Amino acid sequence: MDKLRTVLEHQITPNSFSKVKLIEISDCAKLVTIFPSHLVRNFQNLETLKVKNCNSVEEIFDHRELQDEKTHANVGGISCHLRYLNLQGLPKLKYIWSGDPKGVFKLVQDLQSVEVEECKNLNYIFSAPVAKCLLQLEKLEIISCGVTKIVSEDEGSSGVVRFHFPQLKHIKLKSLPKIKSFYPEVMFTLECSMLKELDIDVFDICNEILLSPVEKVIVPKLESLCLGAKTTTILYLNDQFQDLFRTLKILRVCDCSSLRSLVHTSYSSTLFRNLHTLEIESCDGLINLVTFSTLKSTLVRLQNLSIRNCEKIEEIISSTGHQVQHVEDDEIAFNQLESLKLFCLPNLKCFSREKCTLKFPSLKEVIVVACPKLEVFSSGILVAPLLCGVIQNKYLEGEKRWEGDLSNTVKGMFIDMQEEMAKGFPNIIKHPLHKKHELLLARGTHGCDGCGEYRDGWSYFCGRCEFDLDPGCALEDSNKTTNESGNEQVEESNIRR
Ligand SMILES: [Zn+2]
Ligand SMILES: [Zn+2]
Repeated sequence: MDKLRTVLEHQITPNSFSKVKLIEISDCAKLVTIFPSHLVRNFQNLETLKVKNCNSVEEIFDHRELQDEKTHANVGGISCHLRYLNLQGLPKLKYIWSGDPKGVFKLVQDLQSVEVEECKNLNYIFSAPVAKCLLQLEKLEIISCGVTKIVSEDEGSSGVVRFHFPQLKHIKLKSLPKIKSFYPEVMFTLECSMLKELDIDVFDICNEILLSPVEKVIVPKLESLCLGAKTTTILYLNDQFQDLFRTLKILRVCDCSSLRSLVHTSYSSTLFRNLHTLEIESCDGLINLVTFSTLKSTLVRLQNLSIRNCEKIEEIISSTGHQVQHVEDDEIAFNQLESLKLFCLPNLKCFSREKCTLKFPSLKEVIVVACPKLEVFSSGILVAPLLCGVIQNKYLEGEKRWEGDLSNTVKGMFIDMQEEMAKGFPNIIKHPLHKKHELLLARGTHGCDGCGEYRDGWSYFCGRCEFDLDPGCALEDSNKTTNESGNEQVEESNIRR
């Protein structure tokens, strides 16, 4: 509907659309305002509003006239029962609710879900008065938008501003390159007493978004946290975060390239005590996961541990600073750990170098793919009575490998790697067809991204991009091609060990 400019004309009777519950508007190139103020009263039973791919839309609800009418005591009766608001692909959108009428509570009181995606011109989602009325809000998802804040400043307020979202269970903030904070400048408290899932992947500023001027973040029931941010160095950051992690059951950390270690040694607290799933992906600064001394008080309930595509990690449990003082210190038990995944870790040398006994009484699944330097699993005694195979295929298919126990199986895999190297197949290469990342020698059926052929067996593999080169293409091309500075490369200098 390229020529539609307004949804409806002025001359409709107040009850014309009172039964409409759902409105979907898409691909209207000329539409500027979805609901001018005179229309709001006509859609008193509207529950769901979806607006998609409208290139000219600047505002969804225009409340400015309502505000003026208010002085004539005319707005009191207007209420709206909107529950679901979904906005997508509105490049000119400036306001979702423009103006802040005094009666705003009646317009947003029933809102349960707000999803906003691809609205590059939008500076914020809620004004402060709107944010204070969202007592039913359960879900908030903001993806690929230009927002610098979630809530805009309330000019009339002084002192600590309090935001309370009593029903909010799920927050997702993803790809928001301009965001600076949840709420700018003044101190505020943010209470989400029911929040269970927090998913934040907002480029560089994860620290600030939760912390900058925040007086207090109250999320007593947070169970799942997904973090992606380049500047986060250590996860707990400060005391506020300690509280935040105590109830956590699922933690996913992606693309935190500054992260060095999950838990700092100076905190021997009860951090992550309730964690049952820990997934770390593409954290290239990570050198170890936890130190031996902090391990005993953390991660005790862990059931699933997955570490993928981390360039630098050398060991999972680091022995740095640890001195054995008591006999019982010589044992670590991951009593509930059932699944361990080590995937594309080019520098991993061992799980633990410590000479202690490692016990995995519940461990049933182990995946070790493309860890070319993993020579031994651990230096001490290893107990994993339920385990009877290790998955070594990158697509997690085919038969499991087993040589009596986990230690011997890992050793056997390392020997295989050494044999491949002896045949002239290095285990890590850089290749001009995939300059972004190193390629690791891994097993599995693959379609070669060089020649397009399907083969079974070894290939050079990037786990982040699922990029494959069979040894023929990988080694032949790296002989001939020039590197970025234009120098001729010989095979040996192109190979990293
Ligand atoms: Zn090929
Ligand atoms: Zn890649």
